Amino acid sequence: MASVNSRFLSGLNDIQLAAVLHDEGPCAVFAGPGSGKTRVVTLRAARIASQGIPLLVTTFTTEAAHEMEARLNGMLSVGEMKLITVSTLHALCLRVLKAELPAFKLLTDPHQQRSLADLAGARDIEGGSKAFLSQVSLAKNMGSTHKSYKPDDSGGDREFARTWRAYEKVKAERGLFDFDDLILAVRDLFAGNEQVRSRYANEFKFIIVDECQDMNGPQFAITLSLGRDHRNVMLVGDLDQSLYAFRGADATTFRAFANHPTTRVFELSHNYRSTQSIMQFADSLIRQDTNRHPLPFQATRDEGLPVRWLRLNDADDEAEETAQEILSLHNAGMPFSDIAVLFRVNAQSEAFERIFAAHEIPFASKQDGDFYARREVQGLITYLQYLAPDEHTQTAYADEWLLALLNVPDRKIHRDVPQQLIHVAQLRGRRVREILSDFPAPDLRSFKGIKLLADQLAQLEAAVPQCTNAGHVIAKVRSITGYDRWIQHDPRGVREQEDDDRIVNIARVEEAASHYNTAADYLKAVRMVRDAKQKRRKDRRAHKQLDEVTLVTGHGAKGLEWKVVFAVGWSEFILPHRKAVNYDEERRIAYVIATRARDRLYVSSIDRWNDAITAPSRFLTDLNLVSALPPPRDSANTPAEQPNSLLGGLFD
Ligand code: ATP
Ligand code: MG
Repeated sequence: MASVNSRFLSGLNDIQLAAVLHDEGPCAVFAGPGSGKTRVVTLRAARIASQGIPLLVTTFTTEAAHEMEARLNGMLSVGEMKLITVSTLHALCLRVLKAELPAFKLLTDPHQQRSLADLAGARDIEGGSKAFLSQVSLAKNMGSTHKSYKPDDSGGDREFARTWRAYEKVKAERGLFDFDDLILAVRDLFAGNEQVRSRYANEFKFIIVDECQDMNGPQFAITLSLGRDHRNVMLVGDLDQSLYAFRGADATTFRAFANHPTTRVFELSHNYRSTQSIMQFADSLIRQDTNRHPLPFQATRDEGLPVRWLRLNDADDEAEETAQEILSLHNAGMPFSDIAVLFRVNAQSEAFERIFAAHEIPFASKQDGDFYARREVQGLITYLQYLAPDEHTQTAYADEWLLALLNVPDRKIHRDVPQQLIHVAQLRGRRVREILSDFPAPDLRSFKGIKLLADQLAQLEAAVPQCTNAGHVIAKVRSITGYDRWIQHDPRGVREQEDDDRIVNIARVEEAASHYNTAADYLKAVRMVRDAKQKRRKDRRAHKQLDEVTLVTGHGAKGLEWKVVFAVGWSEFILPHRKAVNYDEERRIAYVIATRARDRLYVSSIDRWNDAITAPSRFLTDLNLVSALPPPRDSANTPAEQPNSLLGGLFD
């Protein structure tokens, strides 16, 4: 080893130091959250590059890659930086395929993917093309291809195999690769073409992988084939933080790699991130998983404040309580950017965005999620906009909203009809609503569609004055228009994310709206969210330094840390997720969320989620703490009770 520049070696404990200095040959770092794994990865990468050696660092998310690159940028010269490739494996594979396959095209549009699946006959598979595509994705993540996949004797599986072959053929004819193909194609390319493999392998003399507990078999295959010649591969991870079994994450390869006699293993046992109270809470949580191999951990920080637990009525109460606490922390001098609200499903962010906007708390939603821009949500909002009296004119039923909902749900009204309606209404000097009943439709389907629309609008207009809150209006829209049925069968709604349940989003809108007396009040709150987001985008473009609370799912929070974390929605149906099959994985999500906190952790449970009554999460009841919880506060009747701080004492 050439002489090592000591600028990368300060602030490390002995084992971290040994891992950073580890020279050639395979090594693994197994360690719990906050033990400095990512610090070791970063410093080892910096150390290697500073010695003039090219290397590859892979991270699990693009965000983590950016963050690591930024850290390295602060430590290294431009020349040294050029020696490091920090990338997700997907991005690396994309680069390889673009270079190696001239006709390569990535299939990114989920609508297109779904129509290709339909073309291949996926409609006839149980659950339709959406279920078919997730089954294909899982099979690919487990390393299968349509050629290697072996159907069992059940007719269903054979049907799936046939459709899968047809789907791959349809894609191949168009030269398209989907996201999962990226990995498989590169795996097969490297396996089948030694020249290509060794060309890429020669680019990097060392490979370091962070968060490798979430890598699947094909991803390991690529990584290990790149490192085959020199074997300078470092795998870093924590099996307690594995969150992607549902996408084929492969813990056995990581273990086998670490158990290999030539692999040097570093176990980091000190936790530098969290206070003892937080660590004890997190540890009690993960200990409920009896199948794991516990890693020793030692706290380095003091006890700190107890973990605080709140039990609240519903998501609005939870968001309000959180907002109040954030405001008091901020008033006491804490920047918003030290605070995160972490949840299980995207739909949870809605209440926080709306209530934070009302309190002018700046926030950044890290998920793709503009909740109110979602198609299924947007449709309902458009109905409210049509039905709510305009703020200035005090009249409802504006033409612009009516035109926007002609085919919401799909009424098979011809796409030229809106223009024709405007034209005829203008000629007659009437509003569009008034000419619906005798509008000369261009075809029979449009005629029937417009008649149906007019009937439904009449029912809605009659029902709205009886509604006592905006949630009732949404309920009427759902039942009178058959909205849910449409959304469930709408092929344009498919999206690649964990929380793709559009009915949940609709139920969320109804519950959120039920907190407002009128549709206009609710729309005003929604507008404030939009305004807040717009302002943020503008500030971003102007490169303003933003101080904002982070809103993100547990999956999106992996590897990150904040001084204060609000772990929200720890209730049955949410965490664990109502569709969960793997409760250990749900518990690990809870564990990852809890271990993001450095100084303060607030956990909250809600007793109602959309249209369901919920109990506190089993992960909390398993700790035998729930009996100590106060009953949910009835915000309407009882004076505000002080938030209770319970957990600290119970973990002494
Ligand atoms: P996770 O499993 O959540 O990804 P991690 O093991 O990667 O966690 P890091 O993010 O690297 O942990 O480090 C956690 C925190 O501890 C960071 O703030 C880091 O700067 C700090 N830290 C790591 N090692 C030390 C050390 N030796 N002395 C002081 N602070 C440290
Ligand atoms: Mg890390």
